[in-house]
Amino acid sequence: MRPFLLVPGMLAISLACFAAKPTSGQTIRVAVDLTDAPRNIFHSSLSLPATAGEMILVYPKWIPGNHRPSGPIANVTGLHFKSGDQELEWHRDPIEMYSFHVTVPPGTKEIQATFDLISADSAGGGGLAASSNLLDLNWNQVVLYPDGAASDAVEIAASVRLPEGWKYGTALTTSHAAGNELTFNPVSLTTLVDSPLIAGAHYRQIELVPAGEIPSHVIDLVAESDAELQMTPADIAAYRKLVMEADALFGAHHYLQYHFLYTLSDDVGHHGVEHHQSSDNSVAGRTLLDPKLHFLEADLLPHEFTHSWNGKYRRPADLATRNYQQPMIGDLLWVYEGLTDYLGRVLTARSGLRTLDEARDVLAFTAAMLDHRAGRTWRPLEDTGLSVQTLRMLGPQWENWRRGLDYYPEGDLIWLEVDTIIRKQTRGRRSLDDFCRRFHGGDSGRPTVVPYTFDDIVRELNAVAPYEWAALLKERVKATSQHAPLGGIENGGWRLIYNDKPNAFMSALESESKGVDLAYSLGILVNKESQLVDVIPGSPAYEAGLGPGMKLLAVNHRKWSSELLKQALRGAQASRQPIELIVQNSEFFKTYTIPYFEGEKIPHLEKVGGQPDFLSDILKSKTASAPKP
Ligand SMILES: [Zn+2]
Repeated sequence: MRPFLLVPGMLAISLACFAAKPTSGQTIRVAVDLTDAPRNIFHSSLSLPATAGEMILVYPKWIPGNHRPSGPIANVTGLHFKSGDQELEWHRDPIEMYSFHVTVPPGTKEIQATFDLISADSAGGGGLAASSNLLDLNWNQVVLYPDGAASDAVEIAASVRLPEGWKYGTALTTSHAAGNELTFNPVSLTTLVDSPLIAGAHYRQIELVPAGEIPSHVIDLVAESDAELQMTPADIAAYRKLVMEADALFGAHHYLQYHFLYTLSDDVGHHGVEHHQSSDNSVAGRTLLDPKLHFLEADLLPHEFTHSWNGKYRRPADLATRNYQQPMIGDLLWVYEGLTDYLGRVLTARSGLRTLDEARDVLAFTAAMLDHRAGRTWRPLEDTGLSVQTLRMLGPQWENWRRGLDYYPEGDLIWLEVDTIIRKQTRGRRSLDDFCRRFHGGDSGRPTVVPYTFDDIVRELNAVAPYEWAALLKERVKATSQHAPLGGIENGGWRLIYNDKPNAFMSALESESKGVDLAYSLGILVNKESQLVDVIPGSPAYEAGLGPGMKLLAVNHRKWSSELLKQALRGAQASRQPIELIVQNSEFFKTYTIPYFEGEKIPHLEKVGGQPDFLSDILKSKTASAPKP
């Protein structure tokens, strides 16, 4: 194990060379005082090259990985601009809230900008970015840069002051470290924003490849206590295998080192955000200790790791923007996120983080959920990607009718279909793995972006296995449909069925959320506060008049519980008597009678006899089973 970066001079091996080379020749310095992180204030001080006259400085707005204008501008507070001791006048652009016009006096070569960031929006995912014991710094939240500049062309020299005794992880390299003060090698603004930093009082680093192997792969963990950092030997082996499986899948890598930044805490926001050389993952504090949470979150790190190839290296042209003020267009998010979701879950199974049975239960749940999306009759999948700006932070009410960020889960079905068609067309000689090696592989080396279009995807698929790919993919993403695309499951040798046996993934979800999911039978999802979270249009509950937001009080005249509701479904199946629900809608109470007699309907995959089991072939490990210690 390599001790981490608090020894001055250590790891001064400069990786600055892999930053896109800035061309302006003028460096912005940013110093971030993080010692107030426990009360969620980050203090930022910038020195910016300046010339006399009106200068427009901008705060990053369109954030990579968020795909939307999520830069937390409303949390920028205490803003001042100065030239030496002289306070400078500024005003915000009345239309563009992220732009500041500063009046720079004659003879000025450099100005200072200082502000505090209220760190209440962790990585754009909602929730706090810091707690008493840890923090997550996303540099886009603490910088300003000249309006119009390309982020590759802006050089930044960054430094931080951490709370006393905290240790940290980041893909940035330090040029100097003294106590809790760290100075990083200058990088482009692109690389800085692509390199978040986590730090905490409780920190651990786990090496995933043998000492000295290039590139290094590590997990940096921070948590609220040492107990929550305890990763099992089986998990460590699985994450080591994940690195091997990704290498086997893509055949090349586009980073010089990789850091899984992993925050375990109930006190901060939860998210996963991808970067070229790291990923910023934040989950509940007990995720490593609680088997159900562990199962639910098992594909997080594989998903974000996959993004280093699919999303960061290969990126839709409309998401590969010049700087953080240029709008992003999400029409290819079914590739950026959808293919990542598929490959991430495949790698989760191949690395042993989920068993084949568990992987099938996850897929059955995904397929059933999408097959009951009433919104698919009016909204094409592509529109869910184009609408990410408006859809991402919405609540679950009527989500099945509106559709949510379906380009993630529906990507699982579409890319499984593509994978199985390639296997069928080539009689098992080729697969989507061959596409990945062509599309995401190439030469290993420093981070770089290779943009693509829809036509590039089609051309590369045809090179692996000729087929009507353009027509198929347009049908999948641009057309509306009554049902989810289940062809991949069927080509894979399985079919989606419903019965009354538990689905491990749904059971884990219900256990953690303390709610109940009866979406495929009665047509309701109920949370632990007894509220109907959503009602599926066309379902028995919908036809009876129920809607999200109403509160379930009683089932067949008895105080409701999840188990009682499930008993009532079974009872009605036997007795053929309607189920009666007493429901509160704000101040009013009403009894709803639901004539539903088909019992529980829990999704599963069932093997179809006599067909090749491509699905299991896809999910099986492709590397030697024992990763090197
Ligand atoms: Zn993603």
